[in-house]
Amino acid sequence: MTAALALNLPPGGILAACAGAVLPDVLDQRLSGLALTSRGRQRVFNRIHRGPTHWFGWWIALFAGAMAAHISPAAQSMLAGLGFGGLSHVLLDMCTPRGVPLRPFSRAGRLSFNLCSTGSLGEYCFLACIVAAAWFFLREDALRMAGRLTKYGLF
Ligand SMILES: [Zn+2]
Repeated sequence: MTAALALNLPPGGILAACAGAVLPDVLDQRLSGLALTSRGRQRVFNRIHRGPTHWFGWWIALFAGAMAAHISPAAQSMLAGLGFGGLSHVLLDMCTPRGVPLRPFSRAGRLSFNLCSTGSLGEYCFLACIVAAAWFFLREDALRMAGRLTKYGLF
């Protein structure tokens, strides 16, 4: 995967979309890993899980930013894929009872549709596959559409 990213191969965008789909939870785990004791770590994880990393704004900004930036098409599709994946993760978590934050650093007001139980690892793997497939088929259209929006100065 790292090799594919380094070589800027076309699958890089798909792998990035995959990585983006699990990244919010990986970030939460990393952040709580900073707590020293394992008991503290669990507590910290519970406190920060679906916090700032699960705010949709970052991922939309990443997607839009990648579109607006003057970078190579490979890098663009990779960063946009990452934002696309992260956004779909937040959308899935939005369907769980706990929901996702409405504002990045506030506990008050959460978005939740309460449609499915809490996301398990299997669900995220499933999501990652769907996101990668969607990105594979829709990437051209998404990039073209976003490129057009960027041209009209909407981002
Ligand atoms: Zn999550």
